Amino acid sequence: MTGTKSLSNTVHVVGAGLAGSEAAWQLAEAGIDVVLHEMRPDRMTEAHRTATPAELVCSNSFRSDDAANNAVGLLHAEMRRLGSLIMRAADANQVPAGGALAVDRDGFSAAVASALEAHPRITLSRGEVTGLPPDEWTNVIIATGPLTSQPLAEAIRGLTDESALAFFDAIAPIVHKDTIDMSKAWFQSRYDKVGPGGTGADYVNCPMTREQYDVFVAALLAGEKTDFKEWETNTPYFDGCLPIEVMAERGHETLRHGPMKPVGLTNPHNPTVKPYAIVQLRQDNKLGTLYNMVGFQTKLKYGPQQQIFRTIPGLENAEFARLGGLHRNTFLNSPKLLDQQLRLRAQPRLRFAGQMTGCEGYVESASIGLIAGLYAAAESRGASLAAPPPTTALGALLGHITGGHIETIDGATRSFQPMNINFGLFPPLAVAPTRKSDGTRLKGNEKTVAKKQAMSARALADLDRWIAEHLRVAAAA
Ligand SMILES: Cc1cc2nc3c(=O)[nH]c(=O)nc-3n(C[C@H](O)[C@H](O)[C@H](O)COP(=O)(O)OP(=O)(O)OC[C@H]3O[C@@H](n4cnc5c(N)ncnc54)[C@H](O)[C@@H]3O)c2cc1C
Repeated sequence: MTGTKSLSNTVHVVGAGLAGSEAAWQLAEAGIDVVLHEMRPDRMTEAHRTATPAELVCSNSFRSDDAANNAVGLLHAEMRRLGSLIMRAADANQVPAGGALAVDRDGFSAAVASALEAHPRITLSRGEVTGLPPDEWTNVIIATGPLTSQPLAEAIRGLTDESALAFFDAIAPIVHKDTIDMSKAWFQSRYDKVGPGGTGADYVNCPMTREQYDVFVAALLAGEKTDFKEWETNTPYFDGCLPIEVMAERGHETLRHGPMKPVGLTNPHNPTVKPYAIVQLRQDNKLGTLYNMVGFQTKLKYGPQQQIFRTIPGLENAEFARLGGLHRNTFLNSPKLLDQQLRLRAQPRLRFAGQMTGCEGYVESASIGLIAGLYAAAESRGASLAAPPPTTALGALLGHITGGHIETIDGATRSFQPMNINFGLFPPLAVAPTRKSDGTRLKGNEKTVAKKQAMSARALADLDRWIAEHLRVAAAA
């Protein structure tokens, strides 16, 4: 740690979590002076226990480290190529965890802390930022995370509008479209209604018989749920996003009169038999590769969710891009509020990073800190940096935050919800692989594996090109 720098191009980073620590590191390594503000230990969050930067508040896992077959493993690989401090500290503090990258949490945070403290361009300043940063901070990154302190959250809300800053995420499960069995499901909008931007056939519909519905409701009621943490119970969330199991508890038929209403839809596979209930899925990203289960936010544990939702006709082999959940989480309606460089449109000196922007997870938060740091460094030098290609994991995640969300489909408004990195956020391959290297045809699951591997190889090649053609040029400006 050094004395506070007062150069006019100093960048202020608020929050020394996963994203803020990475952003500060990238700036300092790019030759920019940084003041990194952290409120702990003066003021703690409900989940943090220490004063150390980059504390892992729950699990000690960075999930799969398989860059060839898994999207988060690919994001690890990309971050390593970009000199990530978070990945360096994780690699140096690994504990055995099969194919996952798990870390000794204290060793990991201590490694991040000592690297930040030893860097001559970084000043760590302890204390809560209790309102909008002062005007003289002209280049700011706000990375205060899902548990941003209340005074700062209120000040940000004042710059946006009531609905643009959420305090709960209510996530319905999201399914990879190509894993839905369309010999049982079909495309149709209720009453074939053509809403704004719709075609009249915008939803995937999965029909249920009475027997299937009865078994499904019983499974929802019996399925194991996660509890609200004590500090979450007082945060209101009941605005139109009741968990499905809570709806099911209100009465056996409640879901049939709510999200599983069977009206205005005809099953073309069996037109004479009226389904007793229907589960609808709606397009979730502009690419059309992901579909969310409409109205299916839930607090069921992940295992029971997969088991129960795969009993729905058409979803027997569904692969989930993410499962449902309901958590306390402060995040922005980023596609509306932020520009492509993660700056607040209403006040571009404020750039956001980490989970506040609508990504989810340690690795994703750190990666958005990384790119925010690179953007801020370029701006500080009077240069600008092009976004990483959408074919990379980093570019795909940024695309979700700054533009991949569709606000209305068929007249229905959809709220922006946080997301982990997954292959559904990547543009499809120009040509999907059909054969193995020995010329024989790929079968069944081999096709999915080959597709992921081709997407990963494309991502790493495109990232290397971006580093050479854009990042190095911006750094030399
Ligand atoms: C309870 C909980 C459990 C989670 N479990 C997991 C998990 O197991 N695995 C996973 O991948 N993800 C998990 N997440 C999601 C998320 O990825 C992590 O919270 C991650 O740490 C987010 O990174 P971040 O940098 O955006 O925020 P954080 O790591 O939370 O960092 C934000 C920092 O800002 C500081 N701060 C807040 N307000 C102010 C202020 N006004 N002034 C100065 N400093 C401030 C905080 O003290 C904190 O150090 C969990 C989230 C929560 C809330």
